[in-house]
Amino acid sequence: MLNYGINIWGNQNYILENGKVKLNILSKPALINIVEDIRKSGHTGPLLLRFPHLIEKQIESIYNQFKRARDEFKYKGKFQALFPLKVNQYPQFVKNIVKLGNKYNYGLEAGSKAELLLAMAYNNPNAPITVNGFKDKEMIALGFIAAEMSYDITLTIEGLNELKTIIETSKSRFGSIPNIGLRVRLHSSGIGIWAKSGGINSKFGLTSTELIKAIKLLEKNNLLDKFSMIHFHIGSQITEIPPVKKALREAGNIYAELKKLGAKNLNSINLGGGLAVEYSQDESRVARNYTLSEYTNDVVYLLKEIALKKGVDEPDIFIESGRYIAAHHAVLVAPVLELFSGEYTEEKLIEKTNPPLIQELYDLYETINKANALEFLHDSIDHMESLLTLFDLGYIDLQDRSNTEVLVNLIIKKAVILLKDKHYKELLSIQERVQERYLVNFSIFQSIPDLWGLEQHFPVMPLDKLDEKPTRSASIWDITCDSDGEIGFNPQKPLFLHDVDLSKDDYFLGFFLVGAYQEVLGMKHNLFTHPTEATIQITKDGYDIINLTEAQSICDIFEDLDYDTKEISKNLNIKIEHSNLLKNNEKEYILNEIKSLLNDNGYLKNEEYR
Ligand SMILES: *Cc1c(COP(=O)(O)O)cnc(C)c1O
Repeated sequence: MLNYGINIWGNQNYILENGKVKLNILSKPALINIVEDIRKSGHTGPLLLRFPHLIEKQIESIYNQFKRARDEFKYKGKFQALFPLKVNQYPQFVKNIVKLGNKYNYGLEAGSKAELLLAMAYNNPNAPITVNGFKDKEMIALGFIAAEMSYDITLTIEGLNELKTIIETSKSRFGSIPNIGLRVRLHSSGIGIWAKSGGINSKFGLTSTELIKAIKLLEKNNLLDKFSMIHFHIGSQITEIPPVKKALREAGNIYAELKKLGAKNLNSINLGGGLAVEYSQDESRVARNYTLSEYTNDVVYLLKEIALKKGVDEPDIFIESGRYIAAHHAVLVAPVLELFSGEYTEEKLIEKTNPPLIQELYDLYETINKANALEFLHDSIDHMESLLTLFDLGYIDLQDRSNTEVLVNLIIKKAVILLKDKHYKELLSIQERVQERYLVNFSIFQSIPDLWGLEQHFPVMPLDKLDEKPTRSASIWDITCDSDGEIGFNPQKPLFLHDVDLSKDDYFLGFFLVGAYQEVLGMKHNLFTHPTEATIQITKDGYDIINLTEAQSICDIFEDLDYDTKEISKNLNIKIEHSNLLKNNEKEYILNEIKSLLNDNGYLKNEEYR
């Protein structure tokens, strides 16, 4: 049985049993059963499932591992984590993170006015808030309001101008002043496709000269006692430990030096995010090469060592990991609409006197067996190429060409089944030429934009039939009419799917680890919207589907683009009313059709389109 690398990327969150992917907790429900349940209530198209227990598990693991490491090294500083809202701001996620984080005092990190307002509205009362990113006067005032609301808030300064605004603002408000953090510009940077936030040329952070100047400014304005934190963030999805250690050494020494310069209330180092998630489905392409336990040990040990050497107190450790916390919790499930070869059946063969080469294809099709399958497969593909050339030269007709396509596809199907237990290598070598295209009811641009933008791989697998060997090398096509909306077959990390007869069976693909960044980065390309979503609470005897939220309607998306939707309706109505091809009752019928389309989402969704 092929397990689609679930042992690599699955984090023990799933088990495979009776051919189905099941959640590895309590009642162990199968994903496919949850999906069918939701579809029964009329929600078709792609579905985004959220599992709060997988959020809780990640929060718990960070707190537990840091606690273990701090105990082990007798570390005196505290530990505190915050969730960076930019990673997922959807309400069903945010409300859960706040609820599940309450017992840890898990906080929120905001990077814009909108995110800060969300944090102020939802954060647990005693949990910290940190604010990063560029800030204007208004945003700084908002930070003061959070402090006035008695939140434990730290404004992290990205540049000296922001500090000057804080100083001015402190003089004109009501006495409560937020804590101040300084973002340090490290010369260390991360690696990989996301490593743009660190390094000496980074977009963010203060240079050594600016740090010294900041301390002087704070001191002069009697605000030095508010300076409590230094912050850095070397990039997302840091897959190796050395850059983390390098950044820690640098930041740890800056911390100690700033304390020596008189920053007596400086007590925290904020490591930002960067903890990596394993997305690989293939043992040979594993990306993350450290464990959380190794990471926590390194952080705690290094900071302790530096504090000891420099004779300062061990700093409290703050972390703002987002991807690590959120990626696992969401799974996108999308129905397969069509197999490209599905239209090639024996019934499609047209009876006529066939040219000799096509007759030979017939013979190959009739006599193919286990022993000759590979040879016949090669022959049929050669024949097809000759026949297509004959067509181009005008020697055979369209019906001949159609018979060629049908026969070759039938031969491929038979060969693949005959060969499925052996010749894996040979089969793989021709898979690129005979792959199956699966048309899937979702948009890559909306649901896994990092695949399009960054070539980030996301684990894909069917939700059932896992006790049958998948035989078709697959390329996945989404329903946008953009040729980039495709996950092509890649012989280096081949995806095999099942040969299903969709007139008899449903077939669903799960796209995993989509809980971080994908939702809010998702684009409305072709005007496809965020899919229908639901939160699934697993219980002892089953599961509860809560907050089932239908995807936005076509009307909603027109509104998002600032169309006047009344005008759209009016234009359509006038054109229908004025059509002299239609009788009155027909017009009424069509007007109703249009109305219901406008109020529905744009995914393909009637019965035969699943
Ligand atoms: C993006 C970001 C994070 C989160 O990074 P992850 O790689 O998702 O953990 C944390 N802190 C800051 C300042 C960020 O910009």
